[in-house]
Amino acid sequence: MEKSLVVITGASSGFGAEIAKIFNQAGFPLLLLGRRVEKIKALPLNFDKVMIEAVDVTDYSAFEASIKQAEAVYGPTDLLVNNAGVMLLGNVLTQSPTEWQTMLNTNVMGVLNGMQIVLPNMTERKHGTIINMSSLAGKKTFTNHAAYVASKFGVHGLSETIREEVSGSNVRVSLVAPGAAETELLTHVTDQKSLIDYGAWKDSMGGITLDPVHVAETVKFIYDMPQAVNIREIDIAATAQD
Ligand code: NDP
Repeated sequence: MEKSLVVITGASSGFGAEIAKIFNQAGFPLLLLGRRVEKIKALPLNFDKVMIEAVDVTDYSAFEASIKQAEAVYGPTDLLVNNAGVMLLGNVLTQSPTEWQTMLNTNVMGVLNGMQIVLPNMTERKHGTIINMSSLAGKKTFTNHAAYVASKFGVHGLSETIREEVSGSNVRVSLVAPGAAETELLTHVTDQKSLIDYGAWKDSMGGITLDPVHVAETVKFIYDMPQAVNIREIDIAATAQD
């Protein structure tokens, strides 16, 4: 059977790159989005059915245009993985509001943008899946994570709300909530004290974090369930994580 279009945001590194690989290996046509397209082009993929666009998920028009362009070639989006995200740690007393804004725009607005772009088609076709990448920080608090936690609690809240709204149209909305994994996520943190605190926390868990491959496998597992089955959420973390 012809496989349907899968759209993955934040495909240039970390979880997104692994999710791209697993769906590429399974033969799905892909639209891979990120701002650093050179990194996406360097992934070990079979590029026969892969479209790559430089899209900032906070730019609604660019996001929408890229999806329309891919759908003109590959047909309607059947899976959107809203994975793009940013984590800028810092104490609320000292962190720049610009960093809060970046996290809320990317992690919350970016996810809402993607959902609004693909949902009309999915609800009309009565088929489709959206998997939003949240975090364990979308369920519990972590020191120096106030705005990030706010953004990921937001992802949990909006996902479950929209899941209820579209369930009657046979459209699935799922959440993946990973624990710590060593991707490029921490490389954007500017606050040195937060990085030191993170290092100490990681040491306390024996230095073991999640392998991004297992997050990608989780996304694939959710999607591979029959359309009549919606795995609403999977929390996944290194066994050693507290
Ligand atoms: P990475 O930093 O490796 O990947 C983040 C991805 O998001 C990159 O591909 C980046 O691409 C993209 N991105 C960031 N901002 C934007 C934007 N404005 N527009 C488009 N793309 C953007 O981190 P991870 O792989 O770890 O993060 C992926 C998701 O997983 C995030 O939502 C993160 O919050 C979540 N997560 C991560 C955990 C971890 O410990 N690593 C734990 C729990 C959740 P580019 O810069 O090219 O635009």
